[in-house]
Amino acid sequence: MDIFRNQDSPMHPADATSFTGPARTKLLASSENATPVHVYRVEFDEGGRTNWHTHSGPQWLLVVGGRIRAQVWGQAPVELDAGDAVVFAPGEKHWHGAPPGARGTHLAVNVNVKTDWLEPVTEEQYRG
Ligand code: MN
Repeated sequence: MDIFRNQDSPMHPADATSFTGPARTKLLASSENATPVHVYRVEFDEGGRTNWHTHSGPQWLLVVGGRIRAQVWGQAPVELDAGDAVVFAPGEKHWHGAPPGARGTHLAVNVNVKTDWLEPVTEEQYRG
């Protein structure tokens, strides 16, 4: 059993080259076995969101607080509440963050994932 204590990994500002607006993140837990798994906690304030991006493996988002907006390229944005979960397929272009007027926190479970960061989500796309 590996234990990952919340207080052992402080939050830090999300990388401004791949996020827009206020967001904080940390690596909460990880396993580097044959199938690497990384679990991140990400807190978004209003306006905070990732850039568009893809993952090479599946990514689950588990909403643990507030509201989260997620959008797949070419589809309408989806609003998620605490307790909801989504999974993105490998290669699916998407973004996630706080909806306009709200804040939200999700855990991201990345399974054997490499992330390719793409262009920022414009204000127009964000306001949807
Ligand atoms: Mn993602």
